[in-house]
Amino acid sequence: MTRTIHHFISGSAVESASGRFGDVFDPNTGQVQARVGLGTVEELDRAVAVAVEAQKGWAATNPQRRARVMFEFKRLLEANMDELAHLLSSEHGKVIADSKGDIQRGLEVIEFACGIPHLLKGEYTQGAGPGIDVYSMRQPLGVVAGITPFNFPAMIPMWMFGVAIACGNAFILKPSERDPSVPVRLAELMMEAGLPEGVLNVVQGDKTVVDAILDHADIKAVSFVGSSDIAHYVYQRGVAAGKRVQAMGGAKNHGIVLPDADLDQTVADLVGAAFGSAGERCMALPVVVPVGDQTAQALKDRLLPEIEKLRLGVSTDADAHYGPVINAAHKAKVESYIEMGVREGAELVVDGRGFKLQGHEDGFFVGPTFFDKVTPDMQSYKEEIFGPVLQMVRAQSFEAALALPTNHQYGNGVAIFTRNGAAAREFAANVEVGMVGINVPIPVPVAYHTFGGWKRSAFGDTNQHGPEGIRFFTKVKTITQRWPAGGPVTDSSFIIPTMR
Ligand code: NAD
Repeated sequence: MTRTIHHFISGSAVESASGRFGDVFDPNTGQVQARVGLGTVEELDRAVAVAVEAQKGWAATNPQRRARVMFEFKRLLEANMDELAHLLSSEHGKVIADSKGDIQRGLEVIEFACGIPHLLKGEYTQGAGPGIDVYSMRQPLGVVAGITPFNFPAMIPMWMFGVAIACGNAFILKPSERDPSVPVRLAELMMEAGLPEGVLNVVQGDKTVVDAILDHADIKAVSFVGSSDIAHYVYQRGVAAGKRVQAMGGAKNHGIVLPDADLDQTVADLVGAAFGSAGERCMALPVVVPVGDQTAQALKDRLLPEIEKLRLGVSTDADAHYGPVINAAHKAKVESYIEMGVREGAELVVDGRGFKLQGHEDGFFVGPTFFDKVTPDMQSYKEEIFGPVLQMVRAQSFEAALALPTNHQYGNGVAIFTRNGAAAREFAANVEVGMVGINVPIPVPVAYHTFGGWKRSAFGDTNQHGPEGIRFFTKVKTITQRWPAGGPVTDSSFIIPTMR
């Protein structure tokens, strides 16, 4: 009998009554290993009703006690790291060490959230007027929701619920239906850490539940991460319903290589960033832009042997550089982009199509692929492939290289490899991209800074986690107070009060 993955509402597993299910594969074998019950509008309503009640007591719990739950949750994540990483890899397909990285990057947001008593402190002005003080406080929004993608089933839920819950909100998580088990396990561990029932609920599902979240009057804010078209849709519909929405989308990150770069280090960085996690990262580096043909040739000569050395394997293979992609449909999509690149006239130097891993012939593996002579007018360059495909676009000048990521529809991350500080500085100041790496291939900011792209990589105006996460999940209340000490009553004033 196939295992079924359920909702997690009010501290317990709740079966969906929809009769609709999503297949959860083991990408290593290509077999269905479980199914997830896809929720209904009524099931979402029930989770929200539970969350509304639970949030009142949680918001009234002082921030130090809320922080203690976060400290304990962090301890539990560490204690359960192996089990969580195996569960994550078994549904996602990334190698175990990379799954641990996925969990660790979420854990670091929990560490940030442990500082919530300090982070929620307001501002105070004594004597803003005669006998008048002004102070502000940050209050939770109430019930908020997160809708997350398949590629970081631990980190991205924790970006959101870690901060939101520490701020005193209750949270509804709608994880990806492709790898839904880790989010449930995280919610169970939050309960074990002392979170009251109903403060964190997981509602499984697809578009039906997403739409119900976007339309629900008691959900005050929605944080979304996924592909850009859906991000845009979620942003528009959520905002139209009067909610706060932050919606992160797709990416096509460029790595600019200047002629003075340390090429050996650059190649090592590029290979890891392009092919790690089978390229299924929004901060992967799938486009390399060498400046000048000499740099391009030298880079290509060094890249090829490294690409040829790449070892694919099942996620539990400790020697594998990367594992399978998420499902058969995605494998077909990546391969169709390779096909498109060939049709468009790019030079296919290494072809990963049709790769079979011995003993796992039905697994969703895509071999490493490398294109040279890709040009900006090609559709395969303009769109996100989200697979182990590296495209080389040659630029003839620094300005031409800078223009590529700047003019691209996506603006999530970018990296520049150089020994020239002035060039790097100019690049960082002028590139139209949200996160920049200087000799750093995957510039994902640490948890106490904030994560977010530009252009079609993010809709809305606050980033994930860090101080912007606190702002997103709280609202400001500003109090102006005076305590008249008796004496003569002052006349009514019909003029707007000013401070002259
Ligand atoms: P996706 O857009 O298919 O799914 C994301 C979420 O939206 C899921 O929970 C899914 O159930 C829901 N969804 C899917 N179709 C929907 C629809 N028609 N209506 C309403 N909801 C729908 O994304 P994915 O394939 O799970 O994840 C990969 C994408 O996420 C890539 O584009 C990647 O770049 C992006 N991503 C972005 C970031 C970032 O921070 N910018 C981080 C990770 C992943």
